[in-house]
Amino acid sequence: MLHHSIPHFPHSKNEKDYRTKSGGGLNDYLGVCVMKPEIMRLIVNPDALILAREIRGFSQTDLSKRLGITQTTLSKWESGITEPKERGIAKLVDVLNFPQEFFSQQIRRLLTSAVYHRRRQKLGASALRMIEAQGKLYQFHVNKLTLSADFKVNLPSYDLESCGGNVEQFAMAVRHYWKVASGPIRNLTGLLEKNGIITVDFDFQTELIDGFFEPGTDTPCVIKNSRMPPDRQRFSLAHELGHLLLHDFMHDGVEEEANSFASAFLMPAEDIKDDFKNLTYKRLGRLKQSWGVSMKALVYRAKTLKLISSNQARYLYVQLNRDGYSKREPLSLDPPIEKPRLLRNLVDFHMKDLGYNQEDICELLCVQLWELRKMYGFEDENKVKFQLV
Ligand SMILES: [Zn+2]
Repeated sequence: MLHHSIPHFPHSKNEKDYRTKSGGGLNDYLGVCVMKPEIMRLIVNPDALILAREIRGFSQTDLSKRLGITQTTLSKWESGITEPKERGIAKLVDVLNFPQEFFSQQIRRLLTSAVYHRRRQKLGASALRMIEAQGKLYQFHVNKLTLSADFKVNLPSYDLESCGGNVEQFAMAVRHYWKVASGPIRNLTGLLEKNGIITVDFDFQTELIDGFFEPGTDTPCVIKNSRMPPDRQRFSLAHELGHLLLHDFMHDGVEEEANSFASAFLMPAEDIKDDFKNLTYKRLGRLKQSWGVSMKALVYRAKTLKLISSNQARYLYVQLNRDGYSKREPLSLDPPIEKPRLLRNLVDFHMKDLGYNQEDICELLCVQLWELRKMYGFEDENKVKFQLV
């Protein structure tokens, strides 16, 4: 799979002549097939090339300028009509900052329409492509890193239909299956990871998208935006969990269903109903600290469960807006930040148990050392160590 050089062995005319003239030679007599020298060269997978470009946030125009080629040439490479030669590949390696092996990987490119994401309409298509491509890179790493590990995903086998189409009941059945104690879920990330759902977070550089999940992968991997407030991140995780467990394909209403699932999963009706009795604006903050969800989500839940009227809900929303909490609720009420561990543990497993060093991991994952460090937080650790000295 790895191609470190690009040897080129064309058939020579003499060789062809020799074979023609030497029909019935020794090899034929022995019944041995004469091996034709293969044309060996790096095969650039167009999907890997497109993914690399999107990860770096380049349009075709940007990249072709940086490569010093026409957009037509790049477009033909990306559609597989022509392939870059040795010089072109060297430029790709240089400009896109991926090792050569990256471009020959069997990567299936992210199909945007197949990805569930929570985003605002304002987010531009190219920014979305870049974020999704970066997530895809993590997903690709997950597939490789779980190959050597004894890795099990523990998902309930029943579906929404087996719960009579009732999302509330389904969410309760999932909690029961995972033996979640009643009341608030203290560490949602830990719960998901305990059951083999890998959680990845990185800074999307925008607050216009919360997270996403790509269905149909061997190891489920939820990607979320570390830039968002912790309460939003928890809701986003539960929302993506809803997609993972409920939706095999995209259809109208999936977003609403995933939101309902998240609400019910984080705030079960039976467990929260007493907290909503005589709900006042003043009590919202304390409930937020207890349940680890936003005050807005609490009001919405109370209204959905018909434990407060629409008028009461409207009044509470007005209060939240008045205090400037519609965009960011107070930092002092934030639940603790939940740091995903599972993916990094898989990297550490390769290093500690399988004897890989960082360079070996780079080769496995087809990234440069700087990128490995950035993606897996090695950089931060070095900084901390340095500060301690
Ligand atoms: Zn969604």
